[in-house]
Amino acid sequence: MSDTMNYKLFIDGAWRSGGSGDDLALINPATEQEFGRVAIASPADLDDALKSAQNSFLQWSNTPAEARGKLVGRAARIMKEKSEAAAAALSREQGKTLAEAKGEYARAIEMLEWNGACAGELSAPLPIDQKRVIVPEAIGVVAAFTPWNYPAVLNARKLAAGIAAGCPVILKAAEETPSAGVYIVEALQEAGIPPGVVSLVFGDPPMISEHLLRSPIIRALSFTGSTPVGKQLAKIAANNLQRCVLELGGHSPVVVFEDADIAQAASAISDYKFECAGQSCNAPSRILVARPIYECFLAELVRAAEKIRVGRPDDPETDMGPMANARRIAAMERLTKEAVDRGARVEAGGKRIDRPGFYWEPTILSNVHPESQVLHEEPFGPILTVAPFTTIDEAIEEANATEYGLASYFFTESPEIQTRMIRSLSAGAISINHLKGVSADAPNAGVKQSGYGYEGGAEGLRAFQNLKLVNRTKAVAVGSCAQCLGARRGS
Ligand code: NAD
Repeated sequence: MSDTMNYKLFIDGAWRSGGSGDDLALINPATEQEFGRVAIASPADLDDALKSAQNSFLQWSNTPAEARGKLVGRAARIMKEKSEAAAAALSREQGKTLAEAKGEYARAIEMLEWNGACAGELSAPLPIDQKRVIVPEAIGVVAAFTPWNYPAVLNARKLAAGIAAGCPVILKAAEETPSAGVYIVEALQEAGIPPGVVSLVFGDPPMISEHLLRSPIIRALSFTGSTPVGKQLAKIAANNLQRCVLELGGHSPVVVFEDADIAQAASAISDYKFECAGQSCNAPSRILVARPIYECFLAELVRAAEKIRVGRPDDPETDMGPMANARRIAAMERLTKEAVDRGARVEAGGKRIDRPGFYWEPTILSNVHPESQVLHEEPFGPILTVAPFTTIDEAIEEANATEYGLASYFFTESPEIQTRMIRSLSAGAISINHLKGVSADAPNAGVKQSGYGYEGGAEGLRAFQNLKLVNRTKAVAVGSCAQCLGARRGS
């Protein structure tokens, strides 16, 4: 990797600088030093992306789904060969450790592989009976917006599902972490994607999203990011009735019941929480612990947090790198101060680390006032709050007490409690006795203010399809018409 990076836009099958000639600085969060530039798209660049996407739609959506899938699978294999270099670039611009970046690319490749492998099956007609069949069709041109926390996984997931479904995708990737978009688009280009089927732009996020969504060429929007921005985009999309998939913020609870294995729960929570410096929408942020084990669990959690080695992301000894940008440090300072001013106790960490870079200590707060901002605003950083509960009703009420509903976790071996918790938690996903959740083959979504629409699994690909109902007057034997060959209902 050269020392200075210059990232361009990809429009109509070619790399180009932004029409205005302007670009943005890239800052290494571990050093606060500039290490490159990223091109800014002008309105004319966006019009070119829209036109080439529109021009490519008919041909791409009529390309047999198996062939589309094969191309996405080829891109996955190309991406595998590039993943060491891509992970190093991601670690430098985002601040996550090299090991985390490699793990992220492994998951990004799975997203490409899974959607590539399932494109044919998920595009096949779905017979209802001998007279009726549902024909899945590509919805049209997709505008995709991805953030900086997991750019490889999120770019791969949106691109793979959209392209496999037969849709051209215009991706605006996060300006702070451009390399993941560039690597994945290069892999698609090398795999033979026709001009216009994928575009990659960077620039002024509100200008780009507004410009794209004001165009009737865009038929669907897929956004991952904060709840306020998701709402703004959904409002703009309403003008053209563009379908929205919104994967927004989270403020995930973990409920630790009295029978839980304390050491295992504390270490699982600490490992997952401090991955990517806590900047994950699914990261646990509010820990609720059965009162009889509260003190013991808290001590164990503090030990686990204090063992986290914070340092340069390229140092193999590092467990947690810096936060991605100065905005997140400012948010950690504000949330911690406000909680402490209201009486919270700092059990671990609690401050910025005194060295260059956006480093924040793994932080645990107890005795947090119920109205403290940290209990209501998504912390999106390495801060955990811990509180005791007495009854399961109290735990459920507290767990559901925010406006978010992305992920929820709990630790107990009791089948009765598990059943009750699964029924009662307001969340798009629940993990029991561990914290991992997202995978290529399963749908992922939020409820309440965490968004709507699905990403991942069959539902994620179907988000980019219209399901056309075809009604005949005469019965056709299922499987006897060319259209129905190979079709499987419910796949
Ligand atoms: P932000 O809301 O300004 O930006 C989040 C992402 O959305 C960025 O990548 C940004 O480029 C993009 N964005 C912002 N405005 C946009 C617009 N009008 N159109 C299209 N894209 C737009 O916040 P931030 O300071 O970068 O990140 C912090 C907050 O973002 C956190 O509090 C968290 O809620 C949220 N976030 C959530 C996720 C997630 O996975 N759900 C990921 C990253 C950030």
